[in-house]
Amino acid sequence: MAAVTQTATPSTWSDEELAEVRGRLQEEIDELEADILRHESEIASGDVTQGAGDDQADAGAKTYEREREIALTLNARDLVAQNERAIARIDAGTYGVCESCHKPIGKERLQAFPRATLCVTCKQKEERR
Ligand SMILES: [Zn+2]
Repeated sequence: MAAVTQTATPSTWSDEELAEVRGRLQEEIDELEADILRHESEIASGDVTQGAGDDQADAGAKTYEREREIALTLNARDLVAQNERAIARIDAGTYGVCESCHKPIGKERLQAFPRATLCVTCKQKEERR
């Protein structure tokens, strides 16, 4: 582990740091895609609650499970898209710049949320809308 020097310019990224963030994002994409494939095969098989009977309560549970699987899959897909966008921004050299006000997002925030595309201020503004 290389020594990290905390300087007064927290918004500049070294190539190593960018490569590390990129690696984290890519790793997450791989995990999410594995999840998506698993969920999709469960949804496709239609047997999320295998072995359940056919009475009303079980039918309801089946629908609920199915809907939950679909929601999880959609959520995972959304995260994959966000991660891919962050990677594209790293490759384009625009990573770490707020998409709204074009100021630096801040390294600390990005290390906590590598896929953030808005600075804290803009994010709060967006949430208030
Ligand atoms: Zn901003």
